[in-house]
Amino acid sequence: MVSLLAGKAAGANMTEIKLHNTLTNQLETLAPQKPDEVKIYTCGPTVYAYAHIGNFRTFMFQDVLRRFLRSQRLRLLHVMNVTDVDDRIIQNAAGAGVSIREYTEKYIQAFLEDMRALNLEQPEVLARATEHIEDMVALIERLQKKGLTYSSDGSIYFRIAKYPAYGKLSKIDMGGIQAGARVDVDRYEKDDARDFALWKAPKPGEHFWESRIGPGRPGWHIECSAMAMKYLGDTLDIHAGGVDLAFPHHENEIAQSEGATSRPFAKVWLHSEHLLIEGQKMSKSLGNFYTLRDLFARGLKPSTVRFLLLSVPYRRQLNFTEDGLLQAQNSVERLRNFVARLKTSNLPTGSDEKNAARIAKAEADFEAALADDLNTAVALAAIFDLVRDANTAMDRGEFKQQDAMRAVSAMEKFDLILAVIADDDEAKLRKLGFGKAEERLAAEQVEALIEQRKTAKAARDFKRADAIRKQLTDSGILLEDAKDGSVRWKYK
Ligand code: AMP
Ligand code: ZN
Repeated sequence: MVSLLAGKAAGANMTEIKLHNTLTNQLETLAPQKPDEVKIYTCGPTVYAYAHIGNFRTFMFQDVLRRFLRSQRLRLLHVMNVTDVDDRIIQNAAGAGVSIREYTEKYIQAFLEDMRALNLEQPEVLARATEHIEDMVALIERLQKKGLTYSSDGSIYFRIAKYPAYGKLSKIDMGGIQAGARVDVDRYEKDDARDFALWKAPKPGEHFWESRIGPGRPGWHIECSAMAMKYLGDTLDIHAGGVDLAFPHHENEIAQSEGATSRPFAKVWLHSEHLLIEGQKMSKSLGNFYTLRDLFARGLKPSTVRFLLLSVPYRRQLNFTEDGLLQAQNSVERLRNFVARLKTSNLPTGSDEKNAARIAKAEADFEAALADDLNTAVALAAIFDLVRDANTAMDRGEFKQQDAMRAVSAMEKFDLILAVIADDDEAKLRKLGFGKAEERLAAEQVEALIEQRKTAKAARDFKRADAIRKQLTDSGILLEDAKDGSVRWKYK
C-alpha cells in the first residue's frame, strides 16, 4: 500500500481525521478502538433489481472513506451486507418460479460488476443475509431473554417502550408518532405502531426458514445488527449509510444491538445525502432512476460517472444533470491530459524548488481537505489549482524534468483516491458489452447471425435461437422482430 504520508508509522503522527457524527451532530476526530485498524459497517444493496446511481452515490462516498483511511495507513475491516431476502425478493422469485438464491444471484453479480466498473473497492467482508439466519435467530433469542420482545401471530417484535434510548440517532420524537401510523414497511399486527418486526411469520405459500423461534424469515433491521456484530464485535468504529436509513433502520439497529449487549453499537455514524434528479430523490419507487448500464448505453464512461459521484462532498445533495456529466467528463480529460503532458513533454533538465514547493502544497491541501469530513470538492480544487499552475509554468519553460516526475507521482497519489486518471474505460465498457464502434461486430457478422437465428427458429431449435439473440444483445445489438418475420437491428 502506498501512503500519502510516506515515512509515517502506522497510526503514529497521523493527520487528524474529522468526520461528522450523526449521533452527536458534531465533527469529531476519528479515534478507532485499535489505533491502526478501523471497523466499518455499511448497509449494502437490496438485490431485487439493478442498483441505480443514487445507490452508487452512497457507495461512492464509502469508497472515498475507505481509500482515504487506507492512504493514512489504517487497516480496514469493512463489512457490507447484501439484503437477499425481503418482501419484494420473495414475491419476485416466486413469480419467476425460481429460488431466492437463483433470483438474487443475477443482481448480486451485476452489483459486483458495477462496483468494478466504478472502481469501488470491495469491502473485506460481503455478507449475504440468507447465509446468516442462525446469527439473527441467536440475536433475537438474546433480546427475548432480556424481555425486549413480544410475539404476535407467529411474528416477533421489538418492544420500543422497553428501550428508552430509542430515537437518539435521528433525534426523532417518538411521542409524536400515533398508534396506527405507518412507521415500518410491513403489514403485521403489533402492539404499538413504533414497534418493528424482528422475525416475520410466513404467509401462505411464502418461502420461510425453520428455526428455534418458529418458522419465518428475518426482518430487515436484525440482519444488519447480527452481521455487523458477528464480524466486528459489539462496538464498531464507523457505521455508514444513506441519510434515508437513519430512521427507522439505523435507529432500530441501535435498539437491537445495544438492547442485547448493553454496549455502544457504533461510535461514529455517517450519513450521505441523496442524489437528486429534477429536485427529487432518485429512487426505484419513483421510477426516476438510471442504472449504471443505462448511462453506459448512452455512451458515458465509467470514469465520468465516478468523478461526478465523488465530486460533491457526501453531506451535500448531488443534483444529477446533463451539464454535471459534461463537466465531469471534461474534468477527467483535463487530469489525464495533464499527466500525458508531464510524461511526454520535452522539458529542461533539473528541478526548481518553487515547483517542488507548489506540488507539496497541493498534496498537503488535498489531504487536509479529505481529513476535513471528506471534503472532496476542496480536495479536487487543490488538484486543479496545481494543474493550472504547472501548465502555466510549462508554457513558460519554467517546469523541469524532475518537477514533472514529482508532479506525476503526486497525481498518482491523488488517483489512489480519485481512481479516474488511469484510463481503462474502454476495457471496462467492453467487458460489460458496451464496445466502441470499431470493436463491435461488423454488419456482415450481425446479418449472418440473424440468418442463423432464423434457420434455428424454422427448425424449432429455440434454445439455439435464444443463444444467438443473447450473443447479439451482449454485443450491443438491438433486435426488433417485425410481424412479417423480418428482423430489424441497430447498434445500441
Ligand atoms: P437499497 O438498495 O435501497 O437498500 O439502498 C442502498 C443504499 O443506497 C442505502 O444506503 C441508501 O440509503 C442509498 N440510497 C438510495 N437512494 C439514494 C439516493 N437517491 N441518493 C443517495 N443514496 C441513496
Ligand atoms: Zn443496515
